[in-house]
Amino acid sequence: MTYKNKVIIVLCEKIVFPGRSLCRCDDGTALFTEGLLPNEKAEVYVTKDKKTFREGYVKSIISKSEHRIEPVCPLFNKCGGCSFQNVEYANQLYYKQQYLNELLSFTEVNISPILPNPKIYHYRNKMEFSFFDNGGDIELGLHYKGSFDRYVPVSFCFIADEDFSKAVEIIKEFANKSGLPPYNNKTHNGFFRHLVLRKAQNNNQFLINIAANAIDEGSDFFNPLIKDLQSLVQSAYWTCNTKKSDAVISDSTKLLFGSPYIVEKLTVGSTDYFFNISPFSFFQTNSSGAEVLYNEALKLLNPRQDDILLDLYCGTGTIGISMSRKVKKVIAVEQIRQSVEDAVLNAKINKADNIEFFDLTVQDWLKTPSQKFDLIVVDPPRSGLTKDVINFLIKSDAEKIIYASCNPSTLARDLHLIIESGKYEIKKIVPVDMFSHTYHIETMVLLEIK
Ligand code: SAH
Repeated sequence: MTYKNKVIIVLCEKIVFPGRSLCRCDDGTALFTEGLLPNEKAEVYVTKDKKTFREGYVKSIISKSEHRIEPVCPLFNKCGGCSFQNVEYANQLYYKQQYLNELLSFTEVNISPILPNPKIYHYRNKMEFSFFDNGGDIELGLHYKGSFDRYVPVSFCFIADEDFSKAVEIIKEFANKSGLPPYNNKTHNGFFRHLVLRKAQNNNQFLINIAANAIDEGSDFFNPLIKDLQSLVQSAYWTCNTKKSDAVISDSTKLLFGSPYIVEKLTVGSTDYFFNISPFSFFQTNSSGAEVLYNEALKLLNPRQDDILLDLYCGTGTIGISMSRKVKKVIAVEQIRQSVEDAVLNAKINKADNIEFFDLTVQDWLKTPSQKFDLIVVDPPRSGLTKDVINFLIKSDAEKIIYASCNPSTLARDLHLIIESGKYEIKKIVPVDMFSHTYHIETMVLLEIK
């Protein structure tokens, strides 16, 4: 008998990464759903019935956890962003700590208590909103949870910088008065597409980028908007994007007014560092969270002045630059040319002249002859490390390696292989919460040569 398309009663056991509720059915089979807290009993509509597990969505909660609270945001469960808003922050941290403990239990290392987000609300320094047609009016918002062509209007977001809602209102009004329609993802007609907002939160500078389809009017078209934005924004861009993909892709990008970039300040090891942020440059999306992360990395590495540091997956160079004064030399590797160009500029601004950048994939960089490194930091994307990078680390003879990870599943997989080699041991695991109200978790692992 299949349970598919049937409603059954389940009991939630725990929350597992990535933020899913692991429940038990009466026959003992595991069922994965969303939004249930441990010990909650619920009616679930089964959408998948496999040999070893089931999936479904919650129809109604029969008995609620004492941890459940009313989410502050009216868009909870609609925009799909803050899946943990139904519990207090302390419980969010507890759940994150639990699923990290479980994923990394094979390491037998005591995981340090998670470092909390310095700002629980309004911590995001970057948002990307979509323009869409809302019954004849132009609205700005986010994709409806899981949908590609449905949106929810977002005039206020609890995790985004508070100034963002002011810009959204001004730009929405301008778009509605302009006479041009929003872009439609299905027909690929229309003009207004995306609004990218970025804030250097520690330095109070604001950048906006309006992405739109091609128009004949020229940039004079935006003049009325410039007047309204000037007291709020230090840098405003218009990106022409005629590609069909829903991403913000630039055919051409024009500065409408102000500075070509905004400058963010990060304080690492009691020194202030400054980083340029332009419309497309990579930067951690939580500035004060990034400070916690980088300060922890510095503390774990505890560099000596004659050390040579390798910063792999360096983005715009923030980690290497913020450690450059504490070491003899830094080598940094990043695959995106624009990020490397930004990184070179950032090094200059911070007078870090002992850092050399390589505009290569880490895999290609490994093929070129290299020197010995005392310290290595790897900060890969969600997919984690490839086998050749893991082999390089194992053979590197570096005294200390830091693995900074945004995905505990691939971190667990990679750590397994590194430890198995017998050359490195895990000394410390420090989780950092940079994304409150979401299931995301950053983890720093310190490995030392045996
Ligand atoms: N350490 C930086 C960036 C981390 S994000 C910071 O803290 O800001 C990961 C970075 O890895 C991105 O900039 C991405 O472009 C880069 N990247 C992803 N795959 C890569 C690869 N195979 N080789 C080199 N860089 C890569």
